[in-house]
Amino acid sequence: MTHSMQGPARTRFAPSPTGWLHIGGARAALFSFLLARKTGGQFLLRIEDTDRKRYVPGSEEDLMEGLRWLGIHWDEGPDVGGPYGPYRQSQRAHLYRKYAEELVKKGHAYYCFCTPERLRRMRERQRKLGLPPRYDGHCRRLDPEEARKRVEAGEPHVVRFKAPREGTITGHDFIRGPITVANKDIDDYILLKSDGLPTYHLAVVVDDHLMRITHVLRGAEWLSTFPLHVHLYRAFGWEEPVWVHLSTFLKPSGKGKISKRDMEEIRKMGYAGVFIRDLREAGYLPEAINNWIALMGWSYDDRTEFFTMQDLIEKFSLERLKPSPAAVNFDKLDHFNGLHLRALSPEDLARRLVPFFHKAGYTHVTAEDLLPIVPLIQTRIHTLADAPRLAGFFFEEDIQHTPEAFEEFLVRHKKVKLDLATAYRALQKVYQRLQEVDPWNAENLEAALRALSEELGLKPRKLFSAVRVAVTGRGVSPPLFETLALLGKARTLRWLRQGLEVLAGMLASQTDASEAAPA
Ligand code: GLU
Repeated sequence: MTHSMQGPARTRFAPSPTGWLHIGGARAALFSFLLARKTGGQFLLRIEDTDRKRYVPGSEEDLMEGLRWLGIHWDEGPDVGGPYGPYRQSQRAHLYRKYAEELVKKGHAYYCFCTPERLRRMRERQRKLGLPPRYDGHCRRLDPEEARKRVEAGEPHVVRFKAPREGTITGHDFIRGPITVANKDIDDYILLKSDGLPTYHLAVVVDDHLMRITHVLRGAEWLSTFPLHVHLYRAFGWEEPVWVHLSTFLKPSGKGKISKRDMEEIRKMGYAGVFIRDLREAGYLPEAINNWIALMGWSYDDRTEFFTMQDLIEKFSLERLKPSPAAVNFDKLDHFNGLHLRALSPEDLARRLVPFFHKAGYTHVTAEDLLPIVPLIQTRIHTLADAPRLAGFFFEEDIQHTPEAFEEFLVRHKKVKLDLATAYRALQKVYQRLQEVDPWNAENLEAALRALSEELGLKPRKLFSAVRVAVTGRGVSPPLFETLALLGKARTLRWLRQGLEVLAGMLASQTDASEAAPA
């Protein structure tokens, strides 16, 4: 029997603290959270830390911090508690032996005393014969009564599942339909280890049952042991949850499953990566990440692409999950980040930019300082981290003008192609004209410079490019007139003067060079 699809869902995210939160985990958590919110149920966080060997210090904090940052909040969990705690499996260790023994009593499991050495030799033999690695059933044949005595005498042992040798088992995955495997292909998996701790397989089933989980949403990598979990539920006689194995993520190329080993490759391609902490640091918004991962394996109507968390809660449904694997598309993430950046209020964006300016070395910048700059850059940045690169100069008293910038953005620029002498003459005029602008605002600045471009017979694009480079020392900046207005008159004129000096130097060395050249 399976839990019904109606009514409030109790879902869980059950990460093992073996690494940083990545987009695969975040998506399983998000969908579980959405289902619980949508149905008025509960979402739980359970830390599955029974494999001490794979424990990575700091990963539990990273998982929690990442989820919180994404806005995926749990109703029950190791930090907040709840009626079915504790929510960390290492603190539930005492619980599992009883269930393992229940299975032994019912004839669905048995004690195994094989030494690591015997298992090693067994595997070696199987490898040589080209057989699949699995337990050979040595202790399955022991007399149960005798085995129990050995356990009582304190002999080291594990508890193994007694997979039936005949017949098949069929589990039902909500998006994949019935999945049938032959029982003879199921290994006698270890359920309880020699240290008395459960393996994932026993712990997940016992805890999902005790915590009254109605829907299990998890990665497709668990499909291979799904039949074992179904066996365990049936052996205990418990009601099964609705099972949903989410689609796999493929590499950006679409060729093959994405794995930890691909991380370097992905970074080399210029992407921030798949860990939430890296995406956060690269300046992606949690809203954009949620939107992006939600649409990997789920869709609403194949048209709508912009979703807030509230939209997702309202529109999410298991029926629209897709089992087919999807390639991770980082360009889409940029696209969603753009959409969500533009949807933020200026105050909100200013606030979120603060840490990025601090990190870029503008350590005293406040949200209030950033507020006037936000309208100039909101549509021009792809990530929060772009902002200091684009607008950091607003917080500089002085900047460095380089001949290279003039070369690149005036002389050689495809759409500008302005020679240095013309630029110099025009900018001297600009300097005079700007001194007269009063009040100093974008409107007056534009009027003054447009009039001047006409008088000089110089295309506005050319003149404005020259002003941009000469004042800011760069070829790309927020809109010119607003930029000058914000910089203020004194700073604009000072920087322009410095720009003119650099230009003069370039012209002088040009003349020197032509004089030195043979006639
Ligand atoms: N601890 C498992 C993992 O980290 C949980 C899988 C599940 O959700 O059942 O992948």
